[in-house]
Amino acid sequence: MPILNRAEELQPEVAAWRRHLHERPELLFDVHETADFVAQKLREFGCDVVTTGIGRTGVVGLIRGAKGAGPVLGMRADMDALPIAEISGLPWASKVAGKMHACGHDGHTAMLLGAAKYLCETRNFAGSVAVIFQPAEEGGGGGLAMVEDGMMETFGIGEVYGMHNAPGVPLGNFAIRKGSLMAASDTFEIVVSGKGSHAAQPHLSVDPVLAAAHVVIALQSIVSREIDPLKSLVISVTTAHGGDAYNVIPMDVKLTGTVRTLLPEIRDFAERRLGEVARATAMAHGAVAEVSYHRGYPVTFNHADETDFAASIAAGVSGQGRVETDMAPKMGAEDFSYMLEARPGAFIFLGVGDTANLHHPAYDFNDEAIPYGISYWISLAESRLAA
Ligand SMILES: [Zn+2]
Ligand SMILES: [Zn+2]
Repeated sequence: MPILNRAEELQPEVAAWRRHLHERPELLFDVHETADFVAQKLREFGCDVVTTGIGRTGVVGLIRGAKGAGPVLGMRADMDALPIAEISGLPWASKVAGKMHACGHDGHTAMLLGAAKYLCETRNFAGSVAVIFQPAEEGGGGGLAMVEDGMMETFGIGEVYGMHNAPGVPLGNFAIRKGSLMAASDTFEIVVSGKGSHAAQPHLSVDPVLAAAHVVIALQSIVSREIDPLKSLVISVTTAHGGDAYNVIPMDVKLTGTVRTLLPEIRDFAERRLGEVARATAMAHGAVAEVSYHRGYPVTFNHADETDFAASIAAGVSGQGRVETDMAPKMGAEDFSYMLEARPGAFIFLGVGDTANLHHPAYDFNDEAIPYGISYWISLAESRLAA
C-alpha cells in the first residue's frame, strides 16, 4: 500500500506536535511533560488502555481492533532528548538551555502518535496494537526498564517493532538488515597506578603517565592483530586524566573509553583481552592497572522473519527499489535491543534526506518524513493483524 492518503492528511497536525515537543526537550527518564503530552493524546484518540509510569516514565497505549481477537503487536518510539545546545535558529528551536532533540525522538514520538490516532479511528485489524513510548534511550536504558517492569507480559505483546530516522538516506527510503544491526555498547575504566615523584627524578618514580600511554597503544593491537578483519570491534580510549603539575610525576592516571561489537563472542573476547592487555602492559612498566568493564546496551539483533515482514511493509509504502534490505551494520547502539531480546521483532531506518547528522547541534527532524513513518506503522499493524 503506498503512502496512505490519511497519513498525508495527518502530516500538518503531527508536524505541529513534533515542533511542540522539539521546543520542550527533556533528558533520560526525566521526560514528564513529554509523557504527559503522549498520554493525553492517546486518551483523546480513544485508546482502550493508557498506562503511564512503566519503566519509570514510559507510556503504553493499547488499541483493540474491531475484527476480533488476535495477537498484540508492539510498536515503539523513544521520547528523550540530548544535552546539546541547539544552533538551528528555527522558530521551533529548543526553549530549554543546553537540551535539544538532536536525535529526532520528537519525530519518532509524533509519528507513532499519528499512527495511534489513525488506528483508534479505524480499528481495521484483529487483536491489538500496543504503542510504546519509552524514556531514556540516550544512555539510561529506558527500554530495559520497561521490559523489567513487565511490559511484555502485562500487555501480552508478542512482537515488537521500532524505527529510527536516518539523515543522509534519501527521504522516504528505508534501510534494514537481518541479524546484528547495531552494536553492543560497553564502557571501561582503567586506573594505572605507579609511584609519584619529582619530575626531575624519574628513576625514583613508577611513571603512570608513560605506562598509561603504552596501555592506550597496546589496546589498539587487539583490534588490528587479534580479530578477524571481517568481524567488527571498536576499542576507543576517549579520556585520559592524571597529574596536576608540570614538575610532578603523579600517582595514577585514569583512562576511560568504549567498546563496540556486533557478535557475543567478540564482545566476550574484547572484555577479556582488554583486561589482560591493560594489566600486563602496566606491569611491564612496573605499574598496576585496575580494570573495570561495564556492559551497556546489547547488540540490536533483528529477527529474520520479522525483518522480512518489516521490509515488505516498507516496500509497500515507498516501493521495492527504495528499501535497502542488506544495509551495513552501524557501530552505534540502540536500547530497543532490550525489547528485541525479550520478543521477536525488527528495527528499521527511515531516510530523512540531507539534514544535519544525528547528535549535531544543527539537527532538526525532517517533517516531510512524517507521512512515510505513519504509513509504515499503519501498514505494519493492518497487515500483521489482518483478520
Ligand atoms: Zn541518539
Ligand atoms: Zn536516537
